[in-house]
Amino acid sequence: MNAKKLQIFQFPCRDDNYGVILRDRETGTTISIDAPETDAIDDVLESKGLKLTHILTTHHHGDHVAGNEALKAKYGCEIIGPKDEEAKIPGIDKAVAHGDTFEIDGHAISVIGTPGHTLGQIAYYFPDQGAAFCADALFALGCGRIFEGTPQMMFTALSRLQALPDETMVYAGHEYTLANAKFALSVDPNNQQLIDRAREIELLRDDGKPTLPTTMQLEKQTNPFLRASDPAIRAVLDMADASDLEVFTEIRSRKDRF
Ligand code: ZN
Ligand code: FE
Repeated sequence: MNAKKLQIFQFPCRDDNYGVILRDRETGTTISIDAPETDAIDDVLESKGLKLTHILTTHHHGDHVAGNEALKAKYGCEIIGPKDEEAKIPGIDKAVAHGDTFEIDGHAISVIGTPGHTLGQIAYYFPDQGAAFCADALFALGCGRIFEGTPQMMFTALSRLQALPDETMVYAGHEYTLANAKFALSVDPNNQQLIDRAREIELLRDDGKPTLPTTMQLEKQTNPFLRASDPAIRAVLDMADASDLEVFTEIRSRKDRF
Protein backbone atom coordinates (compact mmCIF):
# COMPACT_ATOMS: atom_id res chain seq x y z
CA MET A 1 0.00 0.00 0.00
CA ASN A 2 1.10 3.50 -0.81
CA ALA A 3 -1.09 6.04 0.96
CA LYS A 4 1.04 9.08 0.25
CA LYS A 5 -0.59 11.97 -1.52
CA LEU A 6 -0.48 12.30 -5.26
CA GLN A 7 -0.17 15.67 -6.94
CA ILE A 8 -3.32 16.44 -8.93
CA PHE A 9 -3.25 18.83 -11.88
CA GLN A 10 -6.54 19.91 -13.47
CA PHE A 11 -6.53 21.87 -16.70
CA PRO A 12 -9.13 22.95 -19.27
CA CYS A 13 -9.12 21.41 -22.73
CA ARG A 14 -11.35 21.22 -25.81
CA ASP A 15 -14.34 23.56 -25.42
CA ASP A 16 -15.37 22.84 -21.85
CA ASN A 17 -13.66 19.58 -20.83
CA TYR A 18 -11.20 19.16 -18.00
CA GLY A 19 -8.09 17.06 -18.16
CA VAL A 20 -6.71 15.72 -14.89
CA ILE A 21 -3.24 14.30 -14.28
CA LEU A 22 -2.18 12.60 -11.06
CA ARG A 23 1.48 12.18 -10.28
CA ASP A 24 3.51 10.34 -7.68
CA ARG A 25 6.44 12.66 -7.15
CA GLU A 26 8.76 9.93 -5.89
CA THR A 27 8.13 7.11 -8.33
CA GLY A 28 7.16 9.15 -11.39
CA THR A 29 3.89 7.27 -11.86
CA THR A 30 1.68 9.62 -13.90
CA ILE A 31 -2.00 8.93 -14.50
CA SER A 32 -4.35 10.79 -16.83
CA ILE A 33 -8.08 10.63 -16.07
CA ASP A 34 -9.49 10.20 -19.56
CA ALA A 35 -7.72 11.69 -22.57
CA PRO A 36 -9.98 14.39 -24.04
CA GLU A 37 -7.31 15.44 -26.54
CA THR A 38 -3.67 14.66 -27.22
CA ASP A 39 -2.05 18.09 -27.41
CA ALA A 40 -3.39 19.71 -24.24
CA ILE A 41 -2.42 16.68 -22.18
CA ASP A 42 0.96 16.31 -23.82
CA ASP A 43 1.70 20.01 -23.27
CA VAL A 44 1.09 19.57 -19.52
CA LEU A 45 3.25 16.44 -19.44
CA GLU A 46 6.07 18.09 -21.39
CA SER A 47 5.99 21.29 -19.37
CA LYS A 48 6.30 19.35 -16.12
CA GLY A 49 8.74 16.80 -17.50
CA LEU A 50 6.35 13.89 -16.88
CA LYS A 51 6.07 10.53 -18.59
CA LEU A 52 2.52 9.22 -18.83
CA THR A 53 2.23 5.74 -17.32
CA HIS A 54 -1.56 5.19 -17.22
CA ILE A 55 -4.83 6.43 -18.64
CA LEU A 56 -8.00 5.70 -16.68
CA THR A 57 -10.90 5.88 -19.14
CA THR A 58 -14.40 6.56 -17.81
CA HIS A 59 -16.52 6.07 -20.94
CA HIS A 60 -16.35 5.79 -24.70
CA HIS A 61 -17.35 9.31 -25.83
CA GLY A 62 -14.85 10.98 -28.14
CA ASP A 63 -14.19 13.88 -25.80
CA HIS A 64 -12.89 11.36 -23.23
CA VAL A 65 -10.86 8.95 -25.42
CA ALA A 66 -9.60 11.12 -28.31
CA GLY A 67 -6.01 11.12 -27.03
CA ASN A 68 -5.77 7.44 -26.09
CA GLU A 69 -3.96 6.10 -29.13
CA ALA A 70 -1.52 8.95 -29.72
CA LEU A 71 -0.56 9.16 -26.05
CA LYS A 72 -0.12 5.40 -25.86
CA ALA A 73 2.05 5.47 -29.01
CA LYS A 74 4.25 8.16 -27.50
CA TYR A 75 4.50 6.97 -23.89
CA GLY A 76 3.57 3.28 -23.98
CA CYS A 77 1.12 3.94 -21.14
CA GLU A 78 -1.35 1.32 -19.93
CA ILE A 79 -5.01 2.10 -20.63
CA ILE A 80 -7.61 0.92 -18.14
CA GLY A 81 -11.30 1.33 -18.92
CA PRO A 82 -14.86 0.11 -18.40
CA LYS A 83 -15.52 -3.56 -19.09
CA ASP A 84 -19.01 -2.84 -20.40
CA GLU A 85 -17.58 -0.56 -23.11
CA GLU A 86 -14.34 -2.44 -23.71
CA ALA A 87 -14.86 -2.75 -27.47
CA LYS A 88 -15.34 1.02 -27.79
CA ILE A 89 -12.26 2.17 -25.84
CA PRO A 90 -9.27 2.79 -28.15
CA GLY A 91 -6.08 1.08 -26.98
CA ILE A 92 -7.60 -0.50 -23.86
CA ASP A 93 -5.28 -2.94 -22.05
CA LYS A 94 -7.28 -3.80 -18.95
CA ALA A 95 -11.03 -3.70 -18.28
CA VAL A 96 -12.55 -3.03 -14.85
CA ALA A 97 -16.11 -3.03 -13.55
CA HIS A 98 -18.24 -1.82 -10.64
CA GLY A 99 -16.94 -3.11 -7.32
CA ASP A 100 -13.42 -3.82 -8.56
CA THR A 101 -10.49 -2.48 -6.61
CA PHE A 102 -6.99 -2.34 -7.98
CA GLU A 103 -3.71 -0.57 -7.36
CA ILE A 104 -1.36 1.51 -9.47
CA ASP A 105 2.09 1.75 -7.94
CA GLY A 106 0.48 0.90 -4.59
CA HIS A 107 -2.21 3.58 -4.81
CA ALA A 108 -5.65 2.07 -4.16
CA ILE A 109 -8.42 2.71 -6.66
CA SER A 110 -12.08 1.62 -6.45
CA VAL A 111 -14.30 1.35 -9.48
CA ILE A 112 -17.85 2.66 -9.16
CA GLY A 113 -20.31 1.77 -11.91
CA THR A 114 -22.13 4.93 -13.01
CA PRO A 115 -24.22 3.98 -16.06
CA GLY A 116 -26.88 6.27 -17.47
CA HIS A 117 -24.97 8.82 -19.56
CA THR A 118 -23.53 5.76 -21.34
CA LEU A 119 -24.32 2.15 -20.50
CA GLY A 120 -20.89 1.35 -19.14
CA GLN A 121 -19.53 4.55 -17.62
CA ILE A 122 -17.42 4.14 -14.48
CA ALA A 123 -15.97 6.50 -11.88
CA TYR A 124 -12.59 6.04 -10.20
CA TYR A 125 -12.35 6.64 -6.46
CA PHE A 126 -8.95 7.01 -4.79
CA PRO A 127 -9.73 6.50 -1.08
CA ASP A 128 -6.27 7.50 0.15
CA GLN A 129 -6.46 10.72 -1.85
CA GLY A 130 -10.05 11.43 -0.87
CA ALA A 131 -10.78 12.08 -4.52
CA ALA A 132 -13.34 10.75 -7.00
CA PHE A 133 -13.21 11.21 -10.76
CA CYS A 134 -16.81 11.16 -11.93
CA ALA A 135 -16.49 12.31 -15.57
CA ASP A 136 -19.98 12.77 -17.04
CA ALA A 137 -21.99 11.17 -14.21
CA LEU A 138 -21.85 13.87 -11.52
CA PHE A 139 -21.07 17.49 -12.32
CA ALA A 140 -20.90 20.49 -10.03
CA LEU A 141 -24.62 21.28 -9.56
CA GLY A 142 -25.57 18.83 -12.29
CA CYS A 143 -25.49 15.31 -13.66
CA GLY A 144 -24.79 13.83 -17.06
CA ARG A 145 -27.37 13.79 -19.79
CA ILE A 146 -28.95 10.35 -20.09
CA PHE A 147 -27.95 9.27 -23.61
CA GLU A 148 -27.86 5.48 -23.40
CA GLY A 149 -29.34 4.43 -20.08
CA THR A 150 -32.46 5.07 -18.05
CA PRO A 151 -33.28 7.53 -15.27
CA GLN A 152 -33.23 4.57 -12.88
CA MET A 153 -29.63 3.79 -13.90
CA MET A 154 -28.50 7.38 -13.41
CA PHE A 155 -30.35 7.64 -10.10
CA THR A 156 -28.56 4.50 -8.87
CA ALA A 157 -25.23 5.82 -10.16
CA LEU A 158 -25.63 9.08 -8.27
CA SER A 159 -26.72 7.22 -5.12
CA ARG A 160 -23.47 5.25 -5.24
CA LEU A 161 -21.40 8.41 -5.58
CA GLN A 162 -23.38 10.13 -2.86
CA ALA A 163 -22.39 7.33 -0.48
CA LEU A 164 -18.75 8.46 -0.63
CA PRO A 165 -17.49 10.48 2.36
CA ASP A 166 -18.70 14.09 2.53
CA GLU A 167 -15.17 15.46 2.29
CA THR A 168 -14.47 13.62 -0.99
CA MET A 169 -13.07 15.94 -3.64
CA VAL A 170 -15.23 15.47 -6.74
CA TYR A 171 -13.66 15.99 -10.15
CA ALA A 172 -15.89 16.04 -13.24
CA GLY A 173 -15.44 15.96 -16.98
CA HIS A 174 -16.83 19.36 -17.88
CA GLU A 175 -17.10 22.98 -16.77
CA TYR A 176 -20.89 23.23 -16.98
CA THR A 177 -21.39 24.77 -13.57
CA LEU A 178 -22.66 28.24 -14.50
CA ALA A 179 -25.47 26.83 -16.66
CA ASN A 180 -26.15 24.15 -14.05
CA ALA A 181 -26.48 26.82 -11.35
CA LYS A 182 -29.14 28.67 -13.34
CA PHE A 183 -31.14 25.50 -13.70
CA ALA A 184 -30.62 24.47 -10.06
CA LEU A 185 -32.08 27.80 -8.92
CA SER A 186 -35.18 27.17 -11.04
CA VAL A 187 -36.09 24.07 -8.99
CA ASP A 188 -34.55 25.07 -5.63
CA PRO A 189 -34.94 28.88 -5.58
CA ASN A 190 -34.96 29.38 -1.80
CA ASN A 191 -31.86 27.31 -0.95
CA GLN A 192 -29.58 29.97 0.55
CA GLN A 193 -26.45 27.83 0.13
CA LEU A 194 -27.29 27.40 -3.53
CA ILE A 195 -27.94 31.13 -3.96
CA ASP A 196 -24.56 31.92 -2.36
CA ARG A 197 -22.79 29.27 -4.40
CA ALA A 198 -24.31 30.51 -7.67
CA ARG A 199 -22.91 33.97 -6.94
CA GLU A 200 -19.45 32.55 -6.20
CA ILE A 201 -19.58 30.56 -9.44
CA GLU A 202 -20.37 33.69 -11.43
CA LEU A 203 -17.38 35.46 -9.92
CA LEU A 204 -15.07 32.50 -10.58
CA ARG A 205 -16.18 32.23 -14.20
CA ASP A 206 -15.89 36.00 -14.72
CA ASP A 207 -12.25 35.54 -13.71
CA GLY A 208 -11.87 32.49 -15.97
CA LYS A 209 -11.29 30.25 -12.96
CA PRO A 210 -12.50 26.63 -12.60
CA THR A 211 -15.45 25.78 -10.37
CA LEU A 212 -14.10 22.24 -9.94
CA PRO A 213 -13.23 20.19 -8.03
CA THR A 214 -16.22 20.34 -5.75
CA THR A 215 -16.94 18.24 -2.65
CA MET A 216 -19.58 15.62 -2.04
CA GLN A 217 -20.90 17.62 0.90
CA LEU A 218 -21.39 20.75 -1.18
CA GLU A 219 -23.15 18.75 -3.88
CA LYS A 220 -25.47 17.14 -1.37
CA GLN A 221 -26.39 20.61 -0.10
CA THR A 222 -26.87 22.32 -3.46
CA ASN A 223 -27.08 19.89 -6.41
CA PRO A 224 -30.77 19.26 -7.18
CA PHE A 225 -29.97 15.88 -8.76
CA LEU A 226 -28.88 14.65 -5.31
CA ARG A 227 -31.83 16.27 -3.54
CA ALA A 228 -34.91 14.47 -4.85
CA SER A 229 -36.01 13.86 -1.26
CA ASP A 230 -35.89 17.56 -0.35
CA PRO A 231 -39.34 18.93 0.63
CA ALA A 232 -38.70 22.41 -0.81
CA ILE A 233 -37.79 21.02 -4.26
CA ARG A 234 -40.79 18.67 -4.14
CA ALA A 235 -43.02 21.63 -3.36
CA VAL A 236 -41.72 23.57 -6.38
CA LEU A 237 -42.37 20.53 -8.58
CA ASP A 238 -45.73 19.84 -6.94
CA MET A 239 -44.54 16.26 -6.25
CA ALA A 240 -44.83 16.03 -2.48
CA ASP A 241 -45.84 12.36 -2.48
CA ALA A 242 -43.80 11.04 -5.41
CA SER A 243 -40.89 8.62 -5.06
CA ASP A 244 -37.33 9.94 -5.11
CA LEU A 245 -36.84 8.30 -8.50
CA GLU A 246 -39.92 10.06 -9.90
CA VAL A 247 -38.70 13.41 -8.59
CA PHE A 248 -35.21 12.81 -9.97
CA THR A 249 -36.68 11.85 -13.35
CA GLU A 250 -38.73 15.04 -13.44
CA ILE A 251 -35.71 17.18 -12.55
CA ARG A 252 -33.63 15.49 -15.27
CA SER A 253 -36.33 16.00 -17.89
CA ARG A 254 -36.77 19.67 -16.91
CA LYS A 255 -33.02 20.17 -17.30
CA ASP A 256 -33.13 18.60 -20.77
CA ARG A 257 -35.70 21.24 -21.77
CA PHE A 258 -34.21 24.18 -19.83
ZN1 ZN B 1 -19.71 11.88 -22.28
FE1 FE C 1 -17.97 14.44 -21.94
